[in-house]
Amino acid sequence: MPKIKIDPEKCKGCGLCVLYCQKGCIKQSKLLNKKGAYPVEIIEKDGCTGCSFCAIICPDLCITVYK
Ligand code: SF4
Ligand code: SF4
Repeated sequence: MPKIKIDPEKCKGCGLCVLYCQKGCIKQSKLLNKKGAYPVEIIEKDGCTGCSFCAIICPDLCITVYK
């Protein structure tokens, strides 16, 4: 099963990965990080296909996908 790692302190909360995940596995957190942004988090680990769209689309390279 694929594993996703998101760096919450690097994330600027732009939401691109949320839009691009076709499985709805990622959502915006309600907690601010040190940058003053709302970072994203994984909500649906089981639905993740490991497609890596989220990692590819992230402009700040916050997401790593382990297949
Ligand atoms: S690897 Fe694909 S399915 Fe998994 S969280 Fe990223 S975009 Fe969604
Ligand atoms: S695309 Fe990257 S910077 Fe934007 S919300 Fe997702 S993890 Fe954060």
